[in-house]
Amino acid sequence: MSNKRLMIVDDSPAVHVIIEKAARANGIEVCAHAKNGDEAVKQFELTIPDVITMDITMPIKDGLAASKEILAKYPGARILMLSAMGDEELVNEARSIGISHFMQKPFKGEDVIKEINSMITA
Ligand SMILES: [Mg+2]
Repeated sequence: MSNKRLMIVDDSPAVHVIIEKAARANGIEVCAHAKNGDEAVKQFELTIPDVITMDITMPIKDGLAASKEILAKYPGARILMLSAMGDEELVNEARSIGISHFMQKPFKGEDVIKEINSMITA
């Protein structure tokens, strides 16, 4: 069985550390890191990850805009959107473009992995 490959997108370095640590402990390979939506689109095309954790609020290009671009080209992309308190409107907008997996910050790394596993096996 080949490892599942994850791209982590967040402007907070701490989020990368938490998710990568949990991913490694669960046999998920982190194939790419991005700190804004612009990098996320580029890294997605380079690495074609099985799943993405996508922060919403980031500089340069936010997670919603990046997700729109990725889904327009790769409708099967699996995106787990990481939202913060107060992001409700953005979450609703994300739902309207077909994103159905969300996790609210602060989260436990293990919970992110559980959600990722459910998305991959679904
Ligand atoms: Mg952020």
